[in-house]
Amino acid sequence: MWVCPYCGGNHGLPFHDEHLDGMLCLSDDCGRFVEEASIEDERTEWDYSDL
Ligand SMILES: [Zn+2]
Repeated sequence: MWVCPYCGGNHGLPFHDEHLDGMLCLSDDCGRFVEEASIEDERTEWDYSDL
């Protein structure tokens, strides 16, 4: 299940176009776009720890 790294919510809307590839958080007080950078990318570890 997808989990928003910003708010921890589970409600995400998949969003893809020619520039962006990821999930849009549907939580009311979040609404952030979470880029799926792990696809075909060596660096699968997201650096959330220093936020
Ligand atoms: Zn969120």
